[in-house]
Amino acid sequence: MQRTLSILKPDVTRRNLTGAVNARIEDAGLRIIAQKRLHLSLEEAQRFYAVHQERAFFNDLCSFMISGPVVVQVLEGENAVDRYRTVMGATNPANADEGTIRKDFAESIEANSVHGSDSLENAMKEVSFFFSEMEIVG
Ligand code: GDP
Repeated sequence: MQRTLSILKPDVTRRNLTGAVNARIEDAGLRIIAQKRLHLSLEEAQRFYAVHQERAFFNDLCSFMISGPVVVQVLEGENAVDRYRTVMGATNPANADEGTIRKDFAESIEANSVHGSDSLENAMKEVSFFFSEMEIVG
């Protein structure tokens, strides 16, 4: 069993797709064991994405992530980190496989609907960025 961090990005909340994306997550056998809706500050977005601070798209990405509410979640399941990455699809929706969240919902490479941790080590760091143990109910 693993846990991973998921974020439903502002393009999802803006289009009222939280339930539709959650259905994809649950249909894939992942359990949503913590969830809250937040409006990130610029400082929080920059801290969360600090690993990307040298990338050309860093400022655009942070602006997008604070453009509306997000829903942050902890997902639990067998092989949850890789399983969720598969359900999400490729970063650029143009390259995403059929039936993935990004293929079906993403608007662009930036407004690509979901974030998922890319390794177990990052999952643990990202979960504790947003959640205390008391908020996670497995
Ligand atoms: P992920 O792990 O699939 O989310 O992809 P990355 O870690 O490479 O990038 C983090 C996030 O930055 C992506 O999910 C996109 O929202 C955004 N992003 C990635 N590449 C680009 C790009 O070329 N341009 C812009 N504007 N945003 C990007």
